[in-house]
Amino acid sequence: MDKERRKVLQLGAAALVAAGMPPRFAAARTEGVMKSIAKGQNYESFEFGDLKVVALRDGYVDMPPTRLRQVSGRTFDTLPAGVPLVSGQLRLSVNAFLVIEKEQSVLIDTGASNSWYPTMGKLLEAMHEAGIDRNSVTRVALTHTHEDHVNGLVAPDGSVAYPRAERIFVPHEELSVFSGRLALLRDRATPIDDGFLVSERITAVKAAGHSAGHTTYEVRSNAGYLVAWGDIIHVPSIQFGRPEIAWEFDSNQSKARDARLVLLERIARPDYYVAGAHLDFPGVGRVTRSGDAFVFHPV
Ligand SMILES: [Zn+2]
Repeated sequence: MDKERRKVLQLGAAALVAAGMPPRFAAARTEGVMKSIAKGQNYESFEFGDLKVVALRDGYVDMPPTRLRQVSGRTFDTLPAGVPLVSGQLRLSVNAFLVIEKEQSVLIDTGASNSWYPTMGKLLEAMHEAGIDRNSVTRVALTHTHEDHVNGLVAPDGSVAYPRAERIFVPHEELSVFSGRLALLRDRATPIDDGFLVSERITAVKAAGHSAGHTTYEVRSNAGYLVAWGDIIHVPSIQFGRPEIAWEFDSNQSKARDARLVLLERIARPDYYVAGAHLDFPGVGRVTRSGDAFVFHPV
């Protein structure tokens, strides 16, 4: 391992200690507790202890590999081996996750609706395919406010996509997004900070770097934990193995890198699962450690 990378990983470990990790919760035996119970083209439902989790595919977006960044901030002359390209581009899945509890159905992120490329905007169709009424969504929690996470709050026909979601939780640093297209939802927008309880089972855990307020959501079931981590990883084929690699759209690449390392360290254990907005659909799985790298194991 080169010296620069070792230094970065050590910094990550220091941040972990500073943050009071490793984790606060006693390990539970959870091997196999996240169980796929139904799936279609754009959804997959999981039984997760006493909760249900539904992965919903909004679509995908193709991005040039020049968006990947080395620790120095430079692009790669030669891509690391094993990175799949589609017509020379990296294909990023765009996912959102619905957590169904007894009292609440919480949608984490909302896709892009019709605001960006036409390869996205299928979230409402995905929900329909899963047999879920969009009126059953009682709360929305946003990891951050980039277009592919927030613009799905407004349906392609201009209506409010989740009319019964009375509260929309948004990292307080990014509240200003509720203008223009999203102005009609301003009254529902509720600014949150680290540790905020979105519901009885979901806690906001700040992981800033990709954006100023980037927030993950830790979901607690009676069988373990699921961290919906938003944009902690954009290119799973590279960044689990080399978490020091950053992304052009990380507003602060070195902070994003630290946040990624801290989180990977924290969830690489048997009672934790991760749900990623840009992991290959359905984007749900476990993480293990392998030397200085990490490995993703889809459910
Ligand atoms: Zn994103």
